[in-house]
Amino acid sequence: MEESDTQRIAVCVECGLPLPLLRPGAPREGRTWVCRYCGCHYHAVLDDQQPDLHENVRPG
Ligand SMILES: [Zn+2]
Repeated sequence: MEESDTQRIAVCVECGLPLPLLRPGAPREGRTWVCRYCGCHYHAVLDDQQPDLHENVRPG
């Protein structure tokens, strides 16, 4: 487990798809992202450290 000031939303709570999303918090502002597999919505920040997972979400 990583303990840092950024919290990962590691996988979709509905379908378990790996998601490149972080919980929003200053200075980051979240926006809506949608799981490509099940359509679950998240208010989150895109994690640019995980570019290989970016295809798993789309802007909501
Ligand atoms: Zn999902």
